[in-house]
Amino acid sequence: MTVDRAVSIKRTEIAALDAADPLRTSAEAFHLPEGMIYLDGNSLGAMPLAVVERMQEVITNEWGKQLIHSWNDNNWFALSQIIGDKLAQLIGAGPGEVIVSDCVSVNLFKLVVAALKMRKGRCKIVTERGNFPTDVYVLQGIVRMFDGQIDLQMLERPELMQAIDDETAVVVLTHVHYKTSEILDMEAFTRHAHKQGALILWDLCHTAGIMPVELDALDVDMAVGCGYKYLNGGPGAPAFLYIARRLQSGLHQPLSGWWGHADPFAFSDDFRPAADIKRAQSGTQSVLGLSALDVGIDTALSVDMTQVREKSIKLGRLFIDLLAQSCPDLRLASPLDDQRRGGHVSIRHGQGYAITGALNEQGVVVDFRAPDIIRFGFAPLYTSYMDIWHTVEILERILRTKAWDREAFRQQATVT
Ligand SMILES: *Cc1c(COP(=O)(O)O)cnc(C)c1O
Repeated sequence: MTVDRAVSIKRTEIAALDAADPLRTSAEAFHLPEGMIYLDGNSLGAMPLAVVERMQEVITNEWGKQLIHSWNDNNWFALSQIIGDKLAQLIGAGPGEVIVSDCVSVNLFKLVVAALKMRKGRCKIVTERGNFPTDVYVLQGIVRMFDGQIDLQMLERPELMQAIDDETAVVVLTHVHYKTSEILDMEAFTRHAHKQGALILWDLCHTAGIMPVELDALDVDMAVGCGYKYLNGGPGAPAFLYIARRLQSGLHQPLSGWWGHADPFAFSDDFRPAADIKRAQSGTQSVLGLSALDVGIDTALSVDMTQVREKSIKLGRLFIDLLAQSCPDLRLASPLDDQRRGGHVSIRHGQGYAITGALNEQGVVVDFRAPDIIRFGFAPLYTSYMDIWHTVEILERILRTKAWDREAFRQQATVT
């Protein structure tokens, strides 16, 4: 797909868009380095300013002075649920349906194994070919664990729906694709999976904090997602998991640690799962990580997710239109249709890695996904329309002058 819409947008119109933006003041809640256009909030969200004070308080007083008393006195033991209940409001879930813990990979493992146990006699897991690697790797690990009794089917988008049949135990799909930003139809897939008697688990890593979703209303079974992208919880922030209330009492996850016990401080020899979502927990969580994430989620709760989605769509559309105007030969990897596109916009280019390096050097922070994708992540809470204008200006210049064509930009870093 090439960008071929005929448009003529002027800089003065961009300034007007920013002036009329209902979220224009939300960037003030973040620390954004001077001279940087940060378009990587889909990978590591910016730092909310209030994190500094909160962490100082947690470290100095809660940990430093109150030490072990804080498990009770500062609610450390319940933080995963307290923050989970807040996060629930961002994804259309109810209280007691979301818990914050571990990383996405671990949560996925726990829930998929539990799902297989709930659908005994069925042997198939269905997922998308090209899904985020960790999702696929975890599923492959589960298949190995079950010694060939479980069949993992990975399909391209057009074949996905029909692969979900009456042998399918669980369907694992990512709502917004990490490379292309294409949205999968949550309602249609959930309905179809249920019609076939399968459970469905949605990965919301590129969804939570940037667009509203309605897990309860769509009757979704399970979900996972991470805290460090659009939820701005900080590097390595704990992830979350969702289990529909109706499934909780029948759900048995394999990492049955003491935090998932009905009465952890009875220190009994036998595991007895907590009656509620707490059974999805395993062991002690990072209180520092949870505390920072709490601030990120408060920041997201202070705005209206519908407005966030509206701005997200407009930022993406503006970028695509400006590309059509200035770099018409670029190949777009994301859907042109606003309703089918998530929060980032990607382009494909054979020199993608070097171009990413050149953009970063000029202060436009984007990332590269092998083999040829450059991702531009727009975080409506702190990305302005003028940021998009400058980004396209800089990108056009880099392409025109071949500023990317330097040895330094070809050397692959450890993390891309
Ligand atoms: C970022 C991301 C993850 C991250 O998983 P972790 O185990 O938390 O590192 C998983 N899935 C998707 C779709 C992602 O985008």
